[in-house]
Amino acid sequence: MNELYVATKNKHKIIEIQKKLVPLGYHVLSLLDVNKELDIIEDQDSFEGNALKKAMTLYDIIKKPVLADDSGLMVDALDGAPGVFSARYAGEEARDDENNRLLLENLQTVETRDARFCTVMVLVGVEKNPVYAYGYLEGEIAYKARGENGFGYDPIFIVKGENRHLAEYTLEEKNEISHRGKAMEEIIRYLKTT
Ligand code: IMP
Repeated sequence: MNELYVATKNKHKIIEIQKKLVPLGYHVLSLLDVNKELDIIEDQDSFEGNALKKAMTLYDIIKKPVLADDSGLMVDALDGAPGVFSARYAGEEARDDENNRLLLENLQTVETRDARFCTVMVLVGVEKNPVYAYGYLEGEIAYKARGENGFGYDPIFIVKGENRHLAEYTLEEKNEISHRGKAMEEIIRYLKTT
């Protein structure tokens, strides 16, 4: 059986990836199985850089295939911010509602509110070079939060062509269209060919 490590301690991400890769015959492990204490600092200036840093940190320890991801929200009117700072837009320990409030404040007078979620996934230890996969979810930033589901910027993100905020989607509905889901599909297509 092929072993694949995921460079995260986020149990939701681990379960989601296990759901997709176990049926393909992968034994999916994570940072939790290697070193629960290890905190990998996301200090790079791109999603690619952060994803690669996470993957390589774990790969250097176990020397086996590792998958890592980095995601964030990019708002056109803010030149791509909050981007790699999405988790800490309103400060290092900021809560989701604080990040959302600051973003709404910064867009108070802005009418063109196009934005997208972006995920970069990287797989190392399979080929000589890292294999990258990308996923996007297009939409726009609302004027007010709506919905109770999801996390992060979901309450203030309106999916393109829909009236619903992302926090009004069920988890299953969100997984069908999400940036993370799309990047994962690309990784799965790649794994099926190797
Ligand atoms: P991560 O790299 O997946 O941990 O995401 C970093 C940050 O981007 C999160 O803390 C959220 O603020 C934001 N983010 C990423 N994906 C989503 C999403 O699906 N919905 C809402 N916010 C997200």
